[in-house]
Amino acid sequence: MDAAVSLQNVHKVYNGMSVVNDLSLQIKSGEVFGLLGPNGAGKSTTIRMVTTLTQPTDGHLVVAGYDVCRQQLAVRRQIGVVLQQTSVDGDLSVWENMEFHGRMHHIPNPQRRQAIDRWLDYVELADRRDDKVKTLSGGMKRRLQIARALLHNPKILFLDEPTVGLDPQTRRRLWEIIQGLNQQGMTMLLTTHYMEEVEYLCDRIGILDQGKLIELGTLDQLRQRHGEGIVMTQRGDRWDYSFFPTLEAANAHLDQQPDKTGMMTRPSNLEDIFVELTGRNLD
Ligand code: ADP
Repeated sequence: MDAAVSLQNVHKVYNGMSVVNDLSLQIKSGEVFGLLGPNGAGKSTTIRMVTTLTQPTDGHLVVAGYDVCRQQLAVRRQIGVVLQQTSVDGDLSVWENMEFHGRMHHIPNPQRRQAIDRWLDYVELADRRDDKVKTLSGGMKRRLQIARALLHNPKILFLDEPTVGLDPQTRRRLWEIIQGLNQQGMTMLLTTHYMEEVEYLCDRIGILDQGKLIELGTLDQLRQRHGEGIVMTQRGDRWDYSFFPTLEAANAHLDQQPDKTGMMTRPSNLEDIFVELTGRNLD
């Protein structure tokens, strides 16, 4: 099966600085792919390139079978985009925001009205349709952004940090919405800082650092590669982490220590792997 999103040897240079450096990546149809990386790693730039908002300096990008550089309009018809900056218009009502977007995409009536009703219903904003957007909570605004991005029936949805700044309960509701869309066949690429978000939503993960893809795979594959067990050792006010192939191996190592003070074992998680690879925390 063709990849829904394909990047081959993609580069982006800003002012002589290589921001995305030889990135090659394929996202399968129906997959939820999570792109992780510290601030400045090039995640947003990558999303901006695959969504036609900025041109790559070099390389080949194909989205839904269309060349991103030469067939921009065709790509835009196939994708929905939820970026942090592309916020909804606070002085318009929920419905007016949807209507405006639908007209921009030349969705004819009565499909436009039907699609607005369907997606507002899906994100549970039907009862707020006449309210000005500035009266909505952060989570509601994000749901409206998602509903709006879905209006023209895209095949692939791009979400840049979809739940940043939202409380845990609202975040969880958004995860359910995102997961529900995926179960309906939607392919998704999302960036996030939240490990639980990746664990809940993503089939595969790519870790970007300084514009380079430094890790790629399922969470299980990453844990197998780096070690499924961790020995933590307290040194003053910080912890040292050592990876072991399995939790049993980590436990065996701990058992051999004459002095186990300040030491403990646990299964490894994505955050451990992220810190190991990038030297930085996820948040
Ligand atoms: P991330 O989303 O992973 O935090 P970004 O893609 O936003 O990273 O940024 C990667 C690097 O590219 C940063 O060093 C940032 O300053 C730089 N950058 C992003 N956009 C521009 C731009 N329009 N002009 C110049 N530099 C940019």
